[in-house]
Amino acid sequence: MERIRYSFPRPLVEVHARIVQAGYQCYVVGGAVRNIVLQKDPTDWDLATDATPADLIPLFRAVIPTGIKHGTVTILYKGYKFETTTFRIEGPYSDFRHPDHVHYTKELLEDLKRRDFTINAMAIDPMERILIDPYGGKEDVKKRLIRALGDPLERFQEDPLRILRAVRFHAQLAFTIEEKTKEAMKALAHTLRTVSSERIRDEMEKIMASERPSIGFNLMAETGILSILFPELLACRGVDQKGAHAYDVFTHSILCCDAAPRENPAVRWACLLHDSGKPVVKSVSAEGETTFHRHEQISAQLAGTILRRLRFPVAFEKRVVHLVLHHMFHYEDSWTDAAVRRFVRKVGKENLEDLFTLREADGWATSGIRPDPRPLTQFRERIARVLAQSAPLSLKDLAVNGDDLASVGIPKGPAMGTVLDFLLESVLEDPSMNKRDRLLELAKNFYQTRLKTE
Ligand code: ATP
Ligand code: MG
Repeated sequence: MERIRYSFPRPLVEVHARIVQAGYQCYVVGGAVRNIVLQKDPTDWDLATDATPADLIPLFRAVIPTGIKHGTVTILYKGYKFETTTFRIEGPYSDFRHPDHVHYTKELLEDLKRRDFTINAMAIDPMERILIDPYGGKEDVKKRLIRALGDPLERFQEDPLRILRAVRFHAQLAFTIEEKTKEAMKALAHTLRTVSSERIRDEMEKIMASERPSIGFNLMAETGILSILFPELLACRGVDQKGAHAYDVFTHSILCCDAAPRENPAVRWACLLHDSGKPVVKSVSAEGETTFHRHEQISAQLAGTILRRLRFPVAFEKRVVHLVLHHMFHYEDSWTDAAVRRFVRKVGKENLEDLFTLREADGWATSGIRPDPRPLTQFRERIARVLAQSAPLSLKDLAVNGDDLASVGIPKGPAMGTVLDFLLESVLEDPSMNKRDRLLELAKNFYQTRLKTE
């Protein structure tokens, strides 16, 4: 048993004290303990207690039932969130005792025993400042090892999500996976098929938010997880690219993901998937030149399929798909102002920075060195200049609306949509056209000559 030196935040001490005063046990568990052992400050707090959710609710003003099924509630207290889970015992109740821990109850030890990895099976009593570590978690933290607790095959069979959690911790902590644990991951990778998409997505989000997601994806490739969860990315392995490219499509994609900012998940997913259509459209000409014609369209489709499969919110999926679809722009000084306006209209003002961030990451991941920032800077400045002219960019900027068009005999419905788009195209080309009378005239002509059926 070991005393630890750590100064716990006051709100944690208060929450702990309130639970203990009500007659229950309460320990800090999970990532916070790992961090304290690593001498890092915890970012979030998990608590384990013998109090049930029903016992906890009257003790605090704000208790959110985040996972009642699993006995988890979130206690909101003085700006902190405490994920609090009632002790769980899985499998036959054993009489496990360790001489050092006799005065800790069987329940805590049983609760730690059903946790996934040794580094996750420690607890701290924050009042006594004592580390309870029955499975050598601290030792493994020191060795930077991810080791399943007990028999890895059994642990992964109990809950196959743990296989992906190992990848997540490997990516987050850059710890090595212990040999037997890795063997079991390989043997049971296919069982991830039985895990719900939502649980997979939650772990994937953590992998994508780690410093270098590529570490996770390389391990997924090595263990066979990639073929189960992302066969589309597996297909990118070994697909060589020519020209400036130093890497195959798979490595390029995961490095691109690393190069994007971790706090922007939409851009990171777009980076990961922006070239996923390349294996589908790859062709080699008679002269031996490799091309990936219109790969951005197939990549966008695949991105949509993958994000839907993981049940991401539709708005998120759309944002990523949109970025992937438009990642192949090639700005040159010779672009006319109209071409710049059409580009802004197509991409959407609100997506420009994300698209540029994607482009920059794409550049990094092509050669491994920092891309020349000047072309993008010039494009940004050009866009700013063109936008400063406050020329119309969208339908709502037009000097006419649907009612105006209806008043000159254009029926509401699909035809009106076509006419409005045509007017916007004309105005993007020449902003001086954006006058009510001129547009109505143009609309009538266009409708009568091109759309009217009888
Ligand atoms: P983070 O700091 O990223 O939150 P964490 O280790 O706290 O990492 P959580 O997902 O919050 O991870 O889980 C908290 C603890 O609950 C884990 O440390 C582990 O002990 C246990 N745990 C969570 N999921 C599982 C699982 N599927 N199987 C076994 N134990 C689990
Ligand atoms: Mg946690």
